[in-house]
Amino acid sequence: MDWTLQLNNGEYRNWVAVGHALSLMCDGVRPWLDREMKVFHRQLQATVGAGVQCTCVYTPRGRHNKWHDIIGCRWAAAIQNYHTGDPDKIPWYQSKSNLWDHPDHGPWEIAKLFMSDLGKNGRRIVIDAQSTDATGLISLITWCGYIGVPQNLAIDVMDTRNRRWAHNPNQKLNNEEKEKAFKGIKDLLKIPKLATDCDAEKNLAEIQAFEDADLNTIQQAEVHVLKEFILDVRRNDKTLKSINKKLEKLATTQGRSISESSESFQMLILIFIYQTFLIFCKSLLQKSRTLLLVIFLILSVQHLGNGTLSDSK
Ligand SMILES: [Zn+2]
Repeated sequence: MDWTLQLNNGEYRNWVAVGHALSLMCDGVRPWLDREMKVFHRQLQATVGAGVQCTCVYTPRGRHNKWHDIIGCRWAAAIQNYHTGDPDKIPWYQSKSNLWDHPDHGPWEIAKLFMSDLGKNGRRIVIDAQSTDATGLISLITWCGYIGVPQNLAIDVMDTRNRRWAHNPNQKLNNEEKEKAFKGIKDLLKIPKLATDCDAEKNLAEIQAFEDADLNTIQQAEVHVLKEFILDVRRNDKTLKSINKKLEKLATTQGRSISESSESFQMLILIFIYQTFLIFCKSLLQKSRTLLLVIFLILSVQHLGNGTLSDSK
């Protein structure tokens, strides 16, 4: 397979374009989110009162919330008030409450409570908007009521990122899907709160220009987009770590000719297909076990039924 042929496929180019637009959108809102979280933190601090800290102790047998006493803990109560999702699904476990009142670490320690599961590494890495990946930023925008992005817009972008783009084994999007994805991303950057934000405005212009990008421009964005994709896959399978390292190497040697790069890409894609095949086999094996168990149970019931009938005769 010649990897360069992939770029001749319009649906693959659409997938690369949407991945790049999502990345530009995140870069465009990062400085704004850093400022917003600082203001939000000051507001929370004023609500709970000066010098008040969370003194909750983890209670494994707690009936409702194992981490915080929502009635007694002013911090947890104030934070929960701004969570627009299911209060039972707030990931209290991924935020250090002893840092909530810290002027520097507090804003993003609290931001983690509006993000989907970050994993052990993610919890350590996230200290500001720059260190937060697209999934984390989009969840924050979606579930933090203080940020003020209309939830339907945020959910639409989250759906594009997580379902249509990341969970897309063929890496292909048709023209209609691409158009819908670009519309959602652009609409999010056009909300009134971002109307005068120069970073959002600059990246919105870049996204608009990229919508009809030529082959050469798409090609320049491809390595970065593939890296984002592999990082996302890695969250589900850590054995893909080696592929990511190879992609990083590849990104540093972008000056090489396409024919040289295509060989490396072919190798990476073969490894990726092999890993996907292994995951598929594991899933098939589990399904087969379940199927065999069901057949065994049906046969056992039939056998017992026949035994009972012959006994009664
Ligand atoms: Zn607490």
